[in-house]
Amino acid sequence: MSSSPPHPPPPEAAVGSLEVHGLSVVYGRSVTALHDVSLRVPAQGIVAMLGANGAGKSTLLRAVSGTLPLHSGAVSSGSISFDGVPLTGHAPASVVAAGVVQVPEGRRVFAGLSVADNLKAGRLGVVGRGRDDARLALAEVYDLFPVLGERRGQAAGLLSGGEQQMLAIGRALMARPRLLLLDEPSLGLAPLIVTRIAEVVRHIHQQGTGVLLVEQNAALALDLADRAYVLDVGRVRLEGPAEELSRSDDVRRLYLGEQPESGDDRETVPADRDTGPVPTLSRWSR
Ligand code: ATP
Repeated sequence: MSSSPPHPPPPEAAVGSLEVHGLSVVYGRSVTALHDVSLRVPAQGIVAMLGANGAGKSTLLRAVSGTLPLHSGAVSSGSISFDGVPLTGHAPASVVAAGVVQVPEGRRVFAGLSVADNLKAGRLGVVGRGRDDARLALAEVYDLFPVLGERRGQAAGLLSGGEQQMLAIGRALMARPRLLLLDEPSLGLAPLIVTRIAEVVRHIHQQGTGVLLVEQNAALALDLADRAYVLDVGRVRLEGPAEELSRSDDVRRLYLGEQPESGDDRETVPADRDTGPVPTLSRWSR
C-alpha cells in the first residue's frame, strides 16, 4: 500500500521559492497594514524590501513567519507559499518546519540565557533531524561567528548589540533554513559591524540559503540584493533588479538621501506617473 504525500509536488517555477500573492493584513478591526502585496523570492535569491517607518515591512515578515497573531494581526486576503507548500495563516512552528526562519527586528535574544542555550533554542520546532545535525549546525554557527563560541557560556544580555545580532542570526541558522527572513539587521549598529553583517548575509546566501531582507538602510540592502521592492504605506510602489533601483533617481532621493546629479540623463520616474513606458524600472504604480 502506498501513502500519498501531504502536498502535491510544486510546479517547477515554485521550487524553493517564496510566493506572496495579493496579501492584505489587518491589525484589530481598523488598521490595514498591507494592501494587495505580491512578491517573489526565487530559490536561493536575495530580495530586499525597502520602505520608511510604518510602511509595513515587519508586517510582511510576520505574515510569512506566522507570527501575526502574536501582534493581534491577521491575513485578511491573499496567499503565501514556500516551495509550493501553502503557509498562509500557519503557526510559526510549521513555517520553520517548511524551512523558513525569521530573525526578528531588535535581535530579541534571551538575555538571561547563555549564548549556547540561545542557539539551542533555535532548534525548537525543528523536527525529523537528529542530534548530529544539531551538532553540525552549532559547529557551523561557531565557525561563522567565532565570538559566539568564545562566549558560549556567558549570558546573552552581556553581549554587545552587534554580537546580539550575530547571535540572533546564528539562532535562526540553527534550524538550517532554506529561506531566512531578516528584519532590519543593521538597525542601531556601528558601520564596522554593519559591514560584518553584510558579509555574513553574503556568506549565508553563497551557502545556498534564500534571503528576504527588510531594511531601512537602502544602500546596504540594494548592494546585497538581486531584486528589491519598495513598500509605501502598505503597498508595493516599486520593484525591479536591485542594481536598477539603486540607479533610480527616486530611490536615490527618497531612500539614499542623494540629490540627483544635474544634467543626469537617466530616467526619472515621477511619483504620480501613471501612463507610458517605464524605461529603467520594472514597475511603478500610484
Ligand atoms: P518600522 O521600520 O518602523 O518597523 P515597518 O515598515 O516595519 O516599520 P510595520 O511595523 O509593519 O512597519 O507597521 C505597518 C503599519 O501597521 C503601521 O501603521 C503600524 O503602526 C501598524 N502596526 C504595526 N503593528 C501593529 C499592531 N500590533 N497593532 C496595530 N497596528 C500595528
